[in-house]
Amino acid sequence: MSGSSVEVGFTDALNNPLLFSPEHFPSKIGGHPAWLNPANLPSVPICTICGDPLVFFSQIYAGLDRPSNGFHRTLYVFLCRRGSCYTDNKQPVRVFRCQLPADNPFYGLQPVPEGDADVNDIGENKSFAQSHNGYTNICGVCGCKAPLKCSKCQSAHYCSKSHQKYDWHEHKLNCKDQTASQNKPVHLSKSSLLFKEFDIIIEREKEKENVEIDPEELARIQNSSDAYQISGKDAESLSKEYGKDSDPTFTKFKERISRDPSQILRYARHDTPLWPVSTAQCSAAPPCGVCKAPRSFEVQFLPTLLYLLGVGKEKEDMDWATLVLFTCSKDCEVEEYVEEFAWTQTYPTG
Ligand SMILES: [Zn+2]
Ligand SMILES: [Zn+2]
Ligand SMILES: [Zn+2]
Ligand SMILES: [Zn+2]
Repeated sequence: MSGSSVEVGFTDALNNPLLFSPEHFPSKIGGHPAWLNPANLPSVPICTICGDPLVFFSQIYAGLDRPSNGFHRTLYVFLCRRGSCYTDNKQPVRVFRCQLPADNPFYGLQPVPEGDADVNDIGENKSFAQSHNGYTNICGVCGCKAPLKCSKCQSAHYCSKSHQKYDWHEHKLNCKDQTASQNKPVHLSKSSLLFKEFDIIIEREKEKENVEIDPEELARIQNSSDAYQISGKDAESLSKEYGKDSDPTFTKFKERISRDPSQILRYARHDTPLWPVSTAQCSAAPPCGVCKAPRSFEVQFLPTLLYLLGVGKEKEDMDWATLVLFTCSKDCEVEEYVEEFAWTQTYPTG
């Protein structure tokens, strides 16, 4: 992996939630998905292991500077929060790619000024879904395509029976109030099922020569996990397996991450992932399901993110060393949302 081609992402709190709406083409963690193509949403992805709807994890906007195809381009990641669904290299993770040309029915050629976003008519714990209005009904709990609706009031929409059930204790309080909600823009409540929402800032990775690591500091990095923040559970399992740097892959990983210790993702199109540990790496991603071109590496999420999200504290929480996305190397033209390939590398157990 050459230093100059890698970009790293950091989280940032965003005070104005309207900037997370689709017309601002956000890259973010958590909350509801901001759908690039609001007219043709995928069905809510279901965990093949436990049967629950997967939870929206992140979206990465990576446009292609090619007006004809993929001028706008966003990847959407969904996963199961349940740790037991990740055992034996099972992958309860799905990623979708959506592309639009510059000339499209949803967004103008000029960017929407950030100043136009008005935070005043939106509650602190809500997200704005006006851009989705009029195209597709979206689930009031998770923000995914919603083929079901409340049979009493016909105005609350859900992706699945599971989310309808989840929402009932709150929805029953205003179930009959359908006239009031007719003309208002849809605001979605942030349910506790969702991940905490963060903005993602992308920067070029620091070059090695710009980082002065003296030998003492390097020794500290190699011998401790606090230069690289990981959940308590990770630290425990890592120190058991790698405390004496028995895995050179892990040492190399820590050294590379130490250039930007608070990074939560790495973006290096067509390059290779930086695997934290030597086991359970993905050897070959299957080819693109649409054009059959090989898929190449695009982006990976780091366990620093789980630490920030407070995931991994509970025994039943998911836990992984990295989550890697592989996408069509040809960026083939797609309508609607097509599935790409995601791989979670879990820590060895033992
Ligand atoms: Zn599951
Ligand atoms: Zn839902
Ligand atoms: Zn109702
Ligand atoms: Zn393709």
